[in-house]
Parts: sequence; structure tokens; C-alpha cells
Amino acid sequence: MVRVRFAPSPTGNLHIGSARTALFNWLYARAQSGRFILRVEDTDKNRSKDVYLKEILSSLKWLGLSWDEGPFFQSKRLDIYLSYADRLLKQGLAYKDGEAVIFKVKPEKVKIYDLVHGEIEVDNSIIGEIVLIKSDGMPAYNFACVVDDIEMRMSHVIRGDDHISNTNKQIALYNALGVKAPKFAHIPLILASDKSRLSKRFGAVAISEYREKGYLPEAMLNYLALLGWAPGDNREFMGVNEIIKRFSLKRVNKHGAEFNEDKLRWLNGEHIRKLDITAFIAIASSFVGDSHDPEWFRKFCKLYHGRVKTLVDFGDELNIFTSEEVHYRKEDVQEFLKREGVLSMLNSVKKSLEKISEFTAENIETDIRALIKKLGLKGGDLIHPLRVAVTGKSVSAGIFEVLELLGKEKTVKRIEKVEWIITEPPGT
Ligand code: GLU
Repeated sequence: MVRVRFAPSPTGNLHIGSARTALFNWLYARAQSGRFILRVEDTDKNRSKDVYLKEILSSLKWLGLSWDEGPFFQSKRLDIYLSYADRLLKQGLAYKDGEAVIFKVKPEKVKIYDLVHGEIEVDNSIIGEIVLIKSDGMPAYNFACVVDDIEMRMSHVIRGDDHISNTNKQIALYNALGVKAPKFAHIPLILASDKSRLSKRFGAVAISEYREKGYLPEAMLNYLALLGWAPGDNREFMGVNEIIKRFSLKRVNKHGAEFNEDKLRWLNGEHIRKLDITAFIAIASSFVGDSHDPEWFRKFCKLYHGRVKTLVDFGDELNIFTSEEVHYRKEDVQEFLKREGVLSMLNSVKKSLEKISEFTAENIETDIRALIKKLGLKGGDLIHPLRVAVTGKSVSAGIFEVLELLGKEKTVKRIEKVEWIITEPPGT
């Protein structure tokens, strides 16, 4: 039976790289009807913090990476590591140095077989010794990891490339303990777009930051799955069940996977569009709050559901409608508003709209189209300046729907404000 684990150290938030490691283990367990075990490697007393643990667990839950066993805490398993150390001491393979226990590595060439990288040959004579128990009585990473992977009966160890250099040390420990090592699969590092290591410099690295940036967990999961794995055809947009069905370690890349937020944004937009409107309304209102009139909010959601890539985009669009102040960009004012004839045109629009008794998109459209004809204009000559006037943006959803959602009063108020901006003498 496949048994895999995710073994985070609670010394920081769950970042893109560790979430991807957790995901690949979880996918492998789900694809193989195996078990996914969560083990918290908290033996570094100074750096391990409860806030990080909470953050890691909540990000895993948000992504939907449910574990079948655990969480186990290494800090609560010290007796087990000490008894294994004792075994190696008794066999004469380790020695004591004060409180510390040190293992002497056999100077020999060993072969590691990795499911992603194939055969890797390493010379163990350069290792010398491995610390098993540190002088503060805590087990060192390589030792605790091996003992736990034995005790928890791991069949596979799937982790980041940065642990390849630990693998021969760990295999030396398995050999000394007379236990068959699990199979190893080291997955490629995630790189920033300039091929450097992904780091804080490149903006958000914690999963929780992406949640705040308005990404859906299913889109995040879809994107993380594609970092170092591909289903084999050109498919990118996939739901979790499809990913599970198609996931295999054979299709994991050897080389670094590049993190590209534009692609994540695109995928997120696709996942948003895929939601039915009721689900979208629920998710959107939990993101922006539910202080809006439900009828109005539903209409707004319908209009913007297919137009936003993240929930933050959605919130920005919503703000344009709900805020009292509209912000105009200088360039737009110059290009669309401070033009010959715009002032009197907007004034006609305002007068005409004021007369509409039922302010619906349909009535507004009839009215505006008639006005365009009367003034002898092309549609865009009127609609572009009007859009900038009422939204402060040169792109929006359909102008008639936008005006309906904005309502008559706000529309008129905004046009009046713009009239004032247009007549404002330069330099003020
Ligand atoms: N705690 C280690 C880490 O966070 C686990 C490495 C492993 O999976 O063996 O990198």
C-alpha cells in the first residue's frame, strides 16, 4: 500500500514550494488509493512557532489537502529517536560525544535510485559523520526523518530537489538499521520568472497571501499541480478529480518549474467562470462582505462573473459602483473628456437620462441610442466619454447595464462632477 507524507517544519508559512510538495504527495496517495500522513517536524525549538503551524494547517485545509493520519509531532516522539540511537550505539555504529550521538558513515560509493531523476551515484566518503542526536538532546533532521519514515511505514518519499543531498545520508542510516529504504522522488524546484529561486523578492510566496489576493483554492491546486507535472496532452484547466485520475510520478519533470502569476490569474479566471452563478455569488459575497442589497448584488455578480480573474478584481469593480468618489486618470480626462463638444454632449445625456422613469438597461439603451442619432454622432463618440465619466475607467461591462446598476441618482451626480472637471481652468 502506498503511504506518503508531508513533513513541514513550522518555521514559516506554507509557501508555494512546500504546498506543491504536499500536493504531489496527496495526489499520489489519492491516485494510488494510499494514505497521506501529516508529520510536523518541530525539533528546532527556537524556530518552530505555533502561529506557523496554525497557518500551515489552515492553508492545507483551504487547498483541500486532507490527511488520513496525524498530525504527528516529532517533539512528542523523542523517546523513539533515543531508542533508535541506542540501537546504533550498541551496534558500535555510533558513538557518544557528551549528550550528542554521532554516526560514522561508511566511506563507500552508493547508488540512489530516484523515481524522477533515475540513478544518482554518490561518494559517501565525503560525509564522514552524521549527527543523530544533538547536544541539546533533540534529534537532527536526517535521523528523525529516517526513524519516522520507518516507524510510519512510508512507501515513498516525495519531496523537493533540495533534499537530494540528504538522501544518501538517509540511505546510510537505513542500511545501518537494517531496514529497506522507501522509494524516493525528488521534485524540481520552483523558480521565479528570471530562473532564480522563488523568494520573497518576487512578491507573495505564502499560500495564504494568494487566498487574500482572491484566488480560488481549486485554481491554486490546479496551478500547483502543473508546476513540475503535466498530464501529457496540452490540457491545463483541470478539476481536482481529473488531476487525481491522471497524476503519476512518471510525468514529473526533472527540471525547474517556473512560477508565472499571469498563468495562475488566467487559470483562476477560468475556474471562476466555471462556477455556477449561485456558487459564484456565495464565494464573492464571502470575499467582499454581504452588506449589499441581494437583488442588486445578484445582478452585479451576473454582469462581472465572466469578466474578473480574481476576487480582488471583483472587489475593485464593485468599489467603482459603491464608492462615493470616482477617481479619474489624467490621461483619460485628456483623451475622453477635455474634448470639443463633450461637455454639452454629456449635459444632453444627463438631461435625457433624468427623464427615464424606470432606469433599466433596456430603457437606458433606447434613450441613449435615440440621443446618439439626434446628435448625429457615432456610438463610440458618446459611449466612451460617458463610460469614463461614470466609472473613471475606459473599460467596463456593457455601458447600459453599468448605468442601471449605478442607478439614476449616482449616474447624474457623476456626470455633474465631470462637467465641473471639464470646465475647470488648466493648472488648478
Ligand atoms: N521538514 C523537512 C522540510 O521541511 C522535510 C523534508 C522531507 O520531506 O524529508 O523540508
